[in-house]
Amino acid sequence: MEKIYLDYASTTPVDPVVTESMMGCLNKEFGNPSSSHVFGQRASGVLESARETLANFIGAQTKEVIFTSGATEANNQAVFGVAKRHKDKGNHIIVSSIEHPSVMAPVEYLKNEGFKVTYLPVDGKGMVNPDDVRQAISDKTILITVMHASNEIGTVQPIAAIGEIAKEHQIHFHVDAVQAVGHIPVKVNDLRVDSLSLTAHKFYGPKGIGALYVRDGVKISPFLLGGDQEHGLRASTQNIPGAAGLASAVEICVKQMVQEMTIQTKLRNRLIEEIPKRIEGVHLNGHPTERLPNNAHFSFEGMSGESLLMSLDMAGFAASMGSACHSGAMEPSHVLTAINLNDELALGSLRLTVGRWTTEEKIDALVEQLPGMVKALRI
Ligand code: PLP
Repeated sequence: MEKIYLDYASTTPVDPVVTESMMGCLNKEFGNPSSSHVFGQRASGVLESARETLANFIGAQTKEVIFTSGATEANNQAVFGVAKRHKDKGNHIIVSSIEHPSVMAPVEYLKNEGFKVTYLPVDGKGMVNPDDVRQAISDKTILITVMHASNEIGTVQPIAAIGEIAKEHQIHFHVDAVQAVGHIPVKVNDLRVDSLSLTAHKFYGPKGIGALYVRDGVKISPFLLGGDQEHGLRASTQNIPGAAGLASAVEICVKQMVQEMTIQTKLRNRLIEEIPKRIEGVHLNGHPTERLPNNAHFSFEGMSGESLLMSLDMAGFAASMGSACHSGAMEPSHVLTAINLNDELALGSLRLTVGRWTTEEKIDALVEQLPGMVKALRI
């Protein structure tokens, strides 16, 4: 039985073209990019070319791109780096209430260390209101952090409008753009961000490589110490095959993203239209239009999302609830709580995310089998 993967927001398969570029690099470019001999120079050439490819993709300068081990590190670097650098200016952080744990946890840590935190509410569709950002700002605010698009419900935030407000008040604006990069256009100047995180494994690249964009002239303190790699902001020998893989994944997105947005929006819309038509008591979560092209997120009345995932898995479909299960016990996700879902709907959730290898046939197979599974579980 063919397995059908509908969990692209969790991670994407590595594109075979990316694998090939990485294998070439693993086999040939073993040098340390900091070495001055020819092996080092060649490795450095691969690294700097990857940096240029990524910088062009997000509309940045090469000196503004820092390679990291992924977005968790990039988000930690941004939050701790800003807090450390600007703690003499103030101790207030503004954060959306639907951030990924890799932003939330560092912010919580700082809160325990004495920082003041304002959690921005979202409306029922998961949208932050830029006016709430404006109102939350005080003369002690040093950081505003709002994610570009939700990994759970797919809502895309008004980042440029929030960026404008941050700029007016000269406050550092950080954006976790993990779910957006490679899926919708992301240009750092249009969005008016000061820093932005991304990770290759969400756009058909390898795991273990990501990047933090930091606007030229914006000061943050380094997080990893012990070397002057990555413009002195990130110590450790760089991951050359990873950077080559990330760049190769970007090159494919440059060619295919616009077309993929159209295809995936169609597939996603089929899920959004067909599932509530065929099953009673189903609600779409997230914004109806301002959402990622590949995300459909539902809540089912009177049913455990975890049990549905198991039934789907046994039938050959890989999906997700959109959030992790905490310490063995299911707790409602903070994102679904923030959009005001009650526990029943929050725990009865299902995230279906489509991608490069999703076809209409695969969507049809899911749409046909899902009603029977839900019926069996609701008895
Ligand atoms: N931020 C968001 C919105 C994510 O979806 C993820 C991954 O699930 C991360 C950050 C963490 O990325 P990484 O796996 O590269 O650490």
